[in-house]
Amino acid sequence: MPGRNHLYVPGPTNIPDAVLSAMHVPSQDHRAPDFPKLVKPLLEDLKKIFRTEKGQCFIFPATGTAGWEIALTNTLSPGDKVLTYRFGQFSHLWIDLAKRLGLDVEFHEVPWGQGVPVDHLEARLKEDKSHQIKAVLACHNETATGVTSDLPAIRKAIDAAAHPALFYIDGVSSIASIEFRMDEWGVDVALSGSQKGFMLPAGLALLCFSQKALAAREGAQCKRAFLDIYDHTVHNPGGYFPYTPSIPLLHGLRKALDLLLEEGLDTVYARHARLAEGTRRAVAAWGLKLCAQDPKWYSNTVSAIVVPEGFDARDVMHYAYHRYNLSLGAGLSEVMGKVFRIGHLGDLNELMLCSAIAGAEMAMRDVGIQVTPGSGVGAACEYWRETAPALAPR
Ligand SMILES: *Cc1c(COP(=O)(O)O)cnc(C)c1O
Repeated sequence: MPGRNHLYVPGPTNIPDAVLSAMHVPSQDHRAPDFPKLVKPLLEDLKKIFRTEKGQCFIFPATGTAGWEIALTNTLSPGDKVLTYRFGQFSHLWIDLAKRLGLDVEFHEVPWGQGVPVDHLEARLKEDKSHQIKAVLACHNETATGVTSDLPAIRKAIDAAAHPALFYIDGVSSIASIEFRMDEWGVDVALSGSQKGFMLPAGLALLCFSQKALAAREGAQCKRAFLDIYDHTVHNPGGYFPYTPSIPLLHGLRKALDLLLEEGLDTVYARHARLAEGTRRAVAAWGLKLCAQDPKWYSNTVSAIVVPEGFDARDVMHYAYHRYNLSLGAGLSEVMGKVFRIGHLGDLNELMLCSAIAGAEMAMRDVGIQVTPGSGVGAACEYWRETAPALAPR
């Protein structure tokens, strides 16, 4: 099909041309004396993205899924009780992985479309007088439903219960796109992946450990080898890795961090918020609903849009892809066929997002969903015009 593919799945996201170019590098000796000039600043600048001064960052040649495992195995022992909630495919998969690692996973079901129920969490921690619960796991942004949980409120709940549990967050579809503050929010392990807010191909698991989490490693009995942070703590200070890193991805990460830090993280968060709100205006103008059940859950990186009764969201995606070369995100698991998703994170501006909204509108009409032509695009555009930053006259 001529023209480009319009990629609006919530990861992998669009890669900026500057990042693509930066990855076009010849192979390099990863033991060379000047290699640390690349590695050391990467680890330092990653701390700025996680917003930590006290934490330590790690770069693994892996994906977000490995990040879940790195977080847990480096800090816990088989049989340790962890407390978490299931409200979407990613929170579900983290629970599944934790069980397979031999942890004692206490999880509570939450309707898909809501996030971590903080009052329940606080009550449960208060009940746990003997501190059996070693860890609280939270999926910051549930990518399957477009729901963002309130991490500062979770921290407050843990503190209100004066509970010593470690606090773990999955930030794969939030970090580098929406507000995240490792130190201020008292997070112990945060993990992300390279192919969402970091605007890179998949292939890097990016993590940050607090000092408390680093100390927990000593007693952690979960089996680990390749995913042990210990080898990194030995090699990283000198600017090296315990094994061959993906050199193009490291150069890409360098460029992506430059772009994010040049734009400024607060500006990055504000851009995502504004693009997301435009998308939500489009959904409202179509007369449709989001999977997220309340504005307090709205995600600024992905919107899961519920199709009307009697329609299958997979048909919408089919027309979008084959007629308009537009990739929309699928409904996963429990919401399969019920929602399609527009990912609005990473390297993105208003007119790029218009292509996703226009294409979704066309594909919905193609399958018989009676949205008014142009209504979504019009609502989004008007919102973006009204909220555009002031521009000095020519
Ligand atoms: C994408 C995603 C993952 C999985 O990451 P992979 O890189 O595909 O392993 C985990 N959690 C969340 C919230 C995600 O969005």
